[in-house]
Amino acid sequence: MPPYGEFIFGHEYAGDIVAVGRTVDEFQIGDRVVVEAHMGCRRCENCIRGLYTACLNYGNRKRGHRANGFTTNGGLAEYAVNHVNTLYRIPDGVSYEEATVVMTSGSPLFGLENAGVAYMRTNRPQDALAPLERAQRINPNDPIANYNLGLANLALDKYETAIYYLSQSLRIRPNYPDALVQRGFAYQKLGKADSASADYERILSQSEGAISDKMRAEVRRLVAALPGR
Ligand SMILES: [Zn+2]
Repeated sequence: MPPYGEFIFGHEYAGDIVAVGRTVDEFQIGDRVVVEAHMGCRRCENCIRGLYTACLNYGNRKRGHRANGFTTNGGLAEYAVNHVNTLYRIPDGVSYEEATVVMTSGSPLFGLENAGVAYMRTNRPQDALAPLERAQRINPNDPIANYNLGLANLALDKYETAIYYLSQSLRIRPNYPDALVQRGFAYQKLGKADSASADYERILSQSEGAISDKMRAEVRRLVAALPGR
């Protein structure tokens, strides 16, 4: 970390674009944007793995890392520099303050989702329910939040509830193969072979490359095991 006071604070902020870089055509001057304060170098091992807040080039501006408000000037400065990939356009009707809170709530949401997934991975679906339900309530249109909650309910043999959440996931992402296979499995558990078959066939009808060979083989096995096949 840089010495206290070296840079101007502020890592949760929104504002107007007043200048753009030479190659930037995603945004225009005057656009209202909210920012993610952190930009990893995108070249170290951690960044490549998506763990950019643990960038191994932390504080090295020459290598592209920025943590605005910590290693560079942040939101309380009159102007702050942000990489184009850290900007999100604010819809009309959403204030700067609201947009900032939405961006900030991403951290607890990430925590809730990951706590739920961690419980699932350690074979504790009962404990996964509470964080996943909260994540889903915060973000009811997130296909992953709905998928994970469906998965937890499936693991607890709550098939109807599992189907409900998996269907929410599929409403948003219709050909999501993982959600289709799990919902098919839940239908199968309820003895609804036709519905199960329909979901499995929806996976198999996807083009080569859209799903893995492993998934295709697994689904073929499930289809073959359906009663009456
Ligand atoms: Zn990095």
